[in-house]
Amino acid sequence: MPALEPLQIGVVFWTGGELGETATPDEIASRVAAFGLSCGQLAVHGTYELSPAHLEAWRTALDKHGITTVTLVAGFAGESYETIPVCAQTVGYVPPATRAEREQRSYDLIDFAASLGIPSFMNHIGCVTHDRNDPDYTAMRDLIRRICDKCAEHGMTFAMETGQEPADVLNQFIADVDRQNLKVNFDPANMILYGSGDPIDALETVKEHVVTVHCKDGSLPPAAGEWGTETPLGQGDVGFERFIGKLKEIGYTGPLTIEREITGDAQREDILSAVRLLEGLRG
Ligand code: MG
Repeated sequence: MPALEPLQIGVVFWTGGELGETATPDEIASRVAAFGLSCGQLAVHGTYELSPAHLEAWRTALDKHGITTVTLVAGFAGESYETIPVCAQTVGYVPPATRAEREQRSYDLIDFAASLGIPSFMNHIGCVTHDRNDPDYTAMRDLIRRICDKCAEHGMTFAMETGQEPADVLNQFIADVDRQNLKVNFDPANMILYGSGDPIDALETVKEHVVTVHCKDGSLPPAAGEWGTETPLGQGDVGFERFIGKLKEIGYTGPLTIEREITGDAQREDILSAVRLLEGLRG
Protein backbone atom coordinates (compact mmCIF):
# COMPACT_ATOMS: atom_id res chain seq x y z
CA MET A 1 0.00 0.00 0.00
CA PRO A 2 1.50 3.38 -0.96
CA ALA A 3 2.39 5.66 1.95
CA LEU A 4 -0.06 8.49 2.49
CA GLU A 5 0.85 12.11 3.07
CA PRO A 6 0.10 13.44 6.57
CA LEU A 7 -3.54 14.54 6.76
CA GLN A 8 -4.22 13.31 3.23
CA ILE A 9 -7.80 13.97 2.19
CA GLY A 10 -9.98 10.94 1.44
CA VAL A 11 -13.63 9.96 1.26
CA VAL A 12 -16.00 7.21 2.43
CA PHE A 13 -17.33 5.25 -0.56
CA TRP A 14 -19.98 2.52 -0.40
CA THR A 15 -20.43 -0.80 -2.19
CA GLY A 16 -23.40 -0.88 -4.56
CA GLY A 17 -26.61 -2.74 -3.94
CA GLU A 18 -28.71 -0.60 -1.60
CA LEU A 19 -29.94 2.98 -1.30
CA GLY A 20 -30.53 2.97 -5.06
CA GLU A 21 -26.78 2.68 -5.62
CA THR A 22 -26.06 0.11 -8.30
CA ALA A 23 -22.64 1.24 -9.49
CA THR A 24 -19.83 -1.25 -10.04
CA PRO A 25 -16.56 -1.13 -8.06
CA ASP A 26 -14.86 0.33 -11.14
CA GLU A 27 -17.44 3.13 -11.39
CA ILE A 28 -17.26 3.85 -7.66
CA ALA A 29 -13.44 3.93 -7.60
CA SER A 30 -13.42 6.17 -10.68
CA ARG A 31 -15.75 8.62 -8.87
CA VAL A 32 -13.33 8.76 -5.93
CA ALA A 33 -10.47 9.48 -8.33
CA ALA A 34 -12.60 12.13 -10.07
CA PHE A 35 -12.68 14.07 -6.79
CA GLY A 36 -8.91 14.27 -7.14
CA LEU A 37 -8.56 11.85 -4.21
CA SER A 38 -6.44 8.74 -3.86
CA CYS A 39 -7.46 7.38 -0.47
CA GLY A 40 -10.61 6.52 1.40
CA GLN A 41 -12.66 4.05 3.40
CA LEU A 42 -14.63 1.27 1.72
CA ALA A 43 -18.04 0.93 3.40
CA VAL A 44 -19.73 -2.41 2.78
CA HIS A 45 -23.52 -2.69 2.88
CA GLY A 46 -24.99 -5.39 5.09
CA THR A 47 -26.33 -7.46 2.22
CA TYR A 48 -23.25 -7.15 -0.01
CA GLU A 49 -22.06 -10.57 -1.12
CA LEU A 50 -18.46 -11.21 -0.10
CA SER A 51 -17.78 -13.41 -3.12
CA PRO A 52 -14.43 -14.07 -4.80
CA ALA A 53 -15.77 -12.20 -7.86
CA HIS A 54 -16.58 -9.10 -5.80
CA LEU A 55 -13.22 -9.30 -4.06
CA GLU A 56 -11.44 -9.42 -7.41
CA ALA A 57 -13.56 -6.58 -8.80
CA TRP A 58 -12.63 -4.35 -5.87
CA ARG A 59 -8.97 -5.32 -6.04
CA THR A 60 -8.86 -4.46 -9.75
CA ALA A 61 -10.85 -1.21 -9.40
CA LEU A 62 -8.88 0.18 -6.45
CA ASP A 63 -5.61 -0.67 -8.15
CA LYS A 64 -6.63 0.76 -11.54
CA HIS A 65 -7.76 4.09 -10.05
CA GLY A 66 -4.91 4.30 -7.55
CA ILE A 67 -7.08 4.33 -4.44
CA THR A 68 -5.48 3.40 -1.10
CA THR A 69 -8.14 2.04 1.23
CA VAL A 70 -7.36 2.69 4.88
CA THR A 71 -10.44 1.09 6.44
CA LEU A 72 -13.22 -1.34 5.66
CA VAL A 73 -16.42 -0.02 7.27
CA ALA A 74 -19.19 -2.52 8.02
CA GLY A 75 -22.88 -1.80 7.84
CA PHE A 76 -25.17 -4.63 8.94
CA ALA A 77 -28.47 -5.74 7.39
CA GLY A 78 -31.38 -4.50 9.50
CA GLU A 79 -29.69 -1.41 10.94
CA SER A 80 -31.75 1.78 11.03
CA TYR A 81 -30.75 5.27 12.08
CA GLU A 82 -34.31 6.61 11.84
CA THR A 83 -34.41 7.86 15.43
CA ILE A 84 -32.03 7.48 18.37
CA PRO A 85 -34.24 4.82 20.08
CA VAL A 86 -34.50 2.84 16.80
CA CYS A 87 -30.75 3.17 16.38
CA ALA A 88 -30.22 1.77 19.90
CA GLN A 89 -32.44 -1.21 19.03
CA THR A 90 -30.99 -2.04 15.62
CA VAL A 91 -27.36 -0.90 15.26
CA GLY A 92 -24.16 -2.86 15.72
CA TYR A 93 -23.66 -5.91 17.92
CA VAL A 94 -26.06 -4.79 20.66
CA PRO A 95 -29.38 -6.28 19.37
CA PRO A 96 -29.44 -9.85 20.79
CA ALA A 97 -31.34 -11.43 17.88
CA THR A 98 -28.64 -10.56 15.31
CA ARG A 99 -25.56 -10.58 17.52
CA ALA A 100 -24.20 -13.96 16.52
CA GLU A 101 -24.78 -13.50 12.77
CA ARG A 102 -23.19 -10.02 12.82
CA GLU A 103 -20.19 -11.40 14.69
CA GLN A 104 -19.76 -14.03 11.97
CA ARG A 105 -20.33 -11.43 9.23
CA SER A 106 -17.58 -9.34 10.85
CA TYR A 107 -15.11 -12.22 10.65
CA ASP A 108 -15.94 -12.62 6.95
CA LEU A 109 -15.52 -8.86 6.41
CA ILE A 110 -12.18 -8.86 8.22
CA ASP A 111 -10.96 -11.65 5.92
CA PHE A 112 -12.28 -9.68 2.91
CA ALA A 113 -10.45 -6.55 4.09
CA ALA A 114 -7.24 -8.48 4.72
CA SER A 115 -7.39 -9.89 1.18
CA LEU A 116 -7.48 -6.30 -0.11
CA GLY A 117 -4.59 -5.25 2.14
CA ILE A 118 -6.84 -2.93 4.16
CA PRO A 119 -5.23 -2.34 7.59
CA SER A 120 -8.30 -1.50 9.67
CA PHE A 121 -11.86 -2.73 10.20
CA MET A 122 -14.54 -0.53 11.75
CA ASN A 123 -18.23 -0.15 12.54
CA HIS A 124 -20.70 1.32 14.97
CA ILE A 125 -20.70 -1.36 17.67
CA GLY A 126 -24.05 -0.05 18.92
CA CYS A 127 -25.35 1.60 22.06
CA VAL A 128 -23.60 -0.44 24.75
CA THR A 129 -25.04 -0.14 28.26
CA HIS A 130 -23.01 2.23 30.43
CA ASP A 131 -23.53 -0.03 33.47
CA ARG A 132 -20.31 -2.02 33.92
CA ASN A 133 -22.14 -4.44 36.23
CA ASP A 134 -24.73 -5.33 33.58
CA PRO A 135 -24.10 -8.84 32.15
CA ASP A 136 -24.58 -7.41 28.67
CA TYR A 137 -21.68 -5.01 29.22
CA THR A 138 -19.46 -8.02 29.88
CA ALA A 139 -20.89 -9.87 26.87
CA MET A 140 -20.16 -6.90 24.59
CA ARG A 141 -16.68 -6.51 26.06
CA ASP A 142 -15.95 -10.17 25.32
CA LEU A 143 -17.39 -9.92 21.80
CA ILE A 144 -15.19 -6.90 21.00
CA ARG A 145 -12.18 -8.81 22.32
CA ARG A 146 -12.95 -11.59 19.82
CA ILE A 147 -13.33 -9.07 16.96
CA CYS A 148 -10.00 -7.48 17.94
CA ASP A 149 -8.30 -10.86 18.11
CA LYS A 150 -9.60 -11.79 14.66
CA CYS A 151 -8.23 -8.48 13.30
CA ALA A 152 -4.92 -9.14 15.04
CA GLU A 153 -4.55 -12.42 13.11
CA HIS A 154 -4.14 -10.21 10.01
CA GLY A 155 -2.15 -7.46 11.76
CA MET A 156 -5.21 -5.19 11.52
CA THR A 157 -6.76 -2.73 13.93
CA PHE A 158 -10.43 -2.64 14.90
CA ALA A 159 -11.82 0.89 15.10
CA MET A 160 -15.04 1.83 16.84
CA GLU A 161 -17.00 4.73 15.36
CA THR A 162 -17.60 7.47 17.93
CA GLY A 163 -20.76 9.28 18.91
CA GLN A 164 -23.04 6.77 20.56
CA GLU A 165 -21.60 7.47 24.00
CA PRO A 166 -19.67 10.26 25.74
CA ALA A 167 -15.88 10.10 25.33
CA ASP A 168 -15.17 9.13 28.96
CA VAL A 169 -17.56 6.15 28.68
CA LEU A 170 -15.82 5.11 25.46
CA ASN A 171 -12.43 5.33 27.19
CA GLN A 172 -13.63 3.12 30.02
CA PHE A 173 -14.92 0.53 27.55
CA ILE A 174 -11.59 0.56 25.67
CA ALA A 175 -9.74 0.02 28.95
CA ASP A 176 -12.08 -2.85 29.85
CA VAL A 177 -11.66 -4.57 26.46
CA ASP A 178 -7.90 -4.30 26.98
CA ARG A 179 -6.67 -5.02 23.45
CA GLN A 180 -3.72 -3.18 21.86
CA ASN A 181 -5.34 -3.07 18.42
CA LEU A 182 -8.66 -1.58 19.61
CA LYS A 183 -8.85 1.97 18.23
CA VAL A 184 -11.28 4.78 17.54
CA ASN A 185 -12.51 6.29 14.29
CA PHE A 186 -13.29 9.77 15.57
CA ASP A 187 -16.36 11.37 13.97
CA PRO A 188 -16.84 14.91 15.35
CA ALA A 189 -20.30 15.31 13.83
CA ASN A 190 -21.59 12.18 15.54
CA MET A 191 -20.70 13.63 18.94
CA ILE A 192 -22.99 16.54 18.05
CA LEU A 193 -25.73 14.56 16.29
CA TYR A 194 -26.12 12.10 19.20
CA GLY A 195 -25.78 14.86 21.79
CA SER A 196 -22.69 13.08 23.21
CA GLY A 197 -20.64 16.16 24.09
CA ASP A 198 -18.34 18.76 22.55
CA PRO A 199 -16.29 17.08 19.81
CA ILE A 200 -13.04 18.93 20.54
CA ASP A 201 -13.17 18.05 24.25
CA ALA A 202 -14.05 14.47 23.28
CA LEU A 203 -11.06 14.29 20.91
CA GLU A 204 -8.78 15.38 23.75
CA THR A 205 -10.23 12.61 25.95
CA VAL A 206 -9.79 9.76 23.45
CA LYS A 207 -6.76 11.12 21.56
CA GLU A 208 -4.41 8.23 22.30
CA HIS A 209 -6.81 5.77 20.66
CA VAL A 210 -7.58 7.63 17.41
CA VAL A 211 -6.47 5.76 14.27
CA THR A 212 -8.74 7.46 11.69
CA VAL A 213 -11.24 10.31 11.57
CA HIS A 214 -14.34 11.29 9.66
CA CYS A 215 -14.69 14.82 8.38
CA LYS A 216 -18.42 15.23 8.76
CA ASP A 217 -20.43 18.16 10.10
CA GLY A 218 -23.77 18.53 11.84
CA SER A 219 -25.94 20.81 13.89
CA LEU A 220 -27.04 20.22 17.47
CA PRO A 221 -30.29 18.34 18.25
CA PRO A 222 -33.37 20.53 18.83
CA ALA A 223 -34.05 18.63 22.09
CA ALA A 224 -32.35 15.94 24.20
CA GLY A 225 -32.90 12.44 22.80
CA GLU A 226 -33.51 13.69 19.26
CA TRP A 227 -31.18 13.67 16.28
CA GLY A 228 -29.19 16.65 15.20
CA THR A 229 -28.97 17.32 11.46
CA GLU A 230 -26.01 16.39 9.26
CA THR A 231 -24.85 19.36 7.19
CA PRO A 232 -22.31 20.08 4.45
CA LEU A 233 -18.81 20.48 5.90
CA GLY A 234 -18.32 23.92 7.42
CA GLN A 235 -22.03 24.62 7.85
CA GLY A 236 -22.62 22.73 11.11
CA ASP A 237 -21.48 23.12 14.72
CA VAL A 238 -18.17 21.18 14.58
CA GLY A 239 -15.97 24.15 13.68
CA PHE A 240 -13.52 22.60 11.22
CA GLU A 241 -10.73 25.10 11.73
CA ARG A 242 -10.81 24.18 15.42
CA PHE A 243 -11.13 20.45 14.67
CA ILE A 244 -8.20 20.31 12.23
CA GLY A 245 -6.17 22.49 14.60
CA LYS A 246 -6.88 20.05 17.43
CA LEU A 247 -5.88 17.08 15.24
CA LYS A 248 -2.54 18.77 14.55
CA GLU A 249 -2.11 19.57 18.26
CA ILE A 250 -2.54 15.91 19.29
CA GLY A 251 -0.10 14.83 16.56
CA TYR A 252 -2.63 13.05 14.34
CA THR A 253 -1.14 12.44 10.90
CA GLY A 254 -3.64 9.97 9.42
CA PRO A 255 -6.07 10.72 6.62
CA LEU A 256 -8.95 13.22 6.72
CA THR A 257 -11.78 11.08 5.41
CA ILE A 258 -14.83 13.02 4.25
CA GLU A 259 -18.15 11.37 5.07
CA ARG A 260 -21.34 12.81 3.55
CA GLU A 261 -24.34 10.60 4.23
CA ILE A 262 -26.61 11.65 1.40
CA THR A 263 -26.63 10.47 -2.23
CA GLY A 264 -26.67 11.84 -5.76
CA ASP A 265 -25.53 15.17 -7.18
CA ALA A 266 -25.84 17.01 -3.85
CA GLN A 267 -23.46 14.51 -2.26
CA ARG A 268 -20.95 15.01 -5.07
CA GLU A 269 -21.11 18.80 -4.76
CA ASP A 270 -20.78 18.68 -0.97
CA ILE A 271 -17.78 16.34 -1.17
CA LEU A 272 -16.05 18.65 -3.67
CA SER A 273 -16.60 21.69 -1.45
CA ALA A 274 -15.40 19.68 1.58
CA VAL A 275 -12.20 18.83 -0.31
CA ARG A 276 -11.62 22.53 -0.99
CA LEU A 277 -12.30 23.48 2.63
CA LEU A 278 -9.95 20.80 3.98
CA GLU A 279 -7.21 21.68 1.48
CA GLY A 280 -7.24 25.16 2.97
CA LEU A 281 -7.09 23.90 6.56
CA ARG A 282 -4.63 21.01 6.44
CA GLY A 283 -1.69 23.33 5.63
MG1 MG B 1 -18.88 8.59 10.65
